[in-house]
Amino acid sequence: MSEVRFGPGGVPEWLGPSVRFCSRCGAELRFGPVEGEDRDRLACPACGFVFYVNPRLVVTTLPITDRGEVMLIRRGIEPGYDMWAQPGGFLEIDETVRDAAIRETLEETGLEVEPETMLGLYSRVPAAIVVVAFVARITGGRPIVTRESLETRPFAADQIPWDEIAFETSLSAIGDWVRLVRPDLPLPDSASMQRDFGG
Ligand SMILES: [Zn+2]
Repeated sequence: MSEVRFGPGGVPEWLGPSVRFCSRCGAELRFGPVEGEDRDRLACPACGFVFYVNPRLVVTTLPITDRGEVMLIRRGIEPGYDMWAQPGGFLEIDETVRDAAIRETLEETGLEVEPETMLGLYSRVPAAIVVVAFVARITGGRPIVTRESLETRPFAADQIPWDEIAFETSLSAIGDWVRLVRPDLPLPDSASMQRDFGG
């Protein structure tokens, strides 16, 4: 896993520019000790507002066909443009994890799914995300191309394009699925699973 570098604001460098000012009073936030907190925080010296920086939840599915293949999308946006991943996206504030899994899968693939078992939870510290992956049964719809995807197609467990998988969390989730359905198959070693970007 690549090294996590935190900027002067105590937040990941890529996130720093978007958390400069207090969202309550507009003063400039400062990073440092805050009374009652166990670690340095980004806080407002004018009004005392503490800006907590925490990872966000990404909800994904591995949609499984009747033939036992997994549907992946070739991404049409960065990060991971032109590489493969399972459908998913950020959990919205007004929905359950299950609703998000169904919605994101439909939006990105055109497939209606029924999330069944939870495959795993995958932390990706540099991207400040936690990814949850569900195994999901395809119940309807048909594969579509969207603004976010160049292609949606099924892969059998022994056809996974490991070198073209976009994210470390996707490699972990798809690897866990392969281990479940085809424990006899070899998996890529951890060195070849490193990715510099995204999830
Ligand atoms: Zn303030």
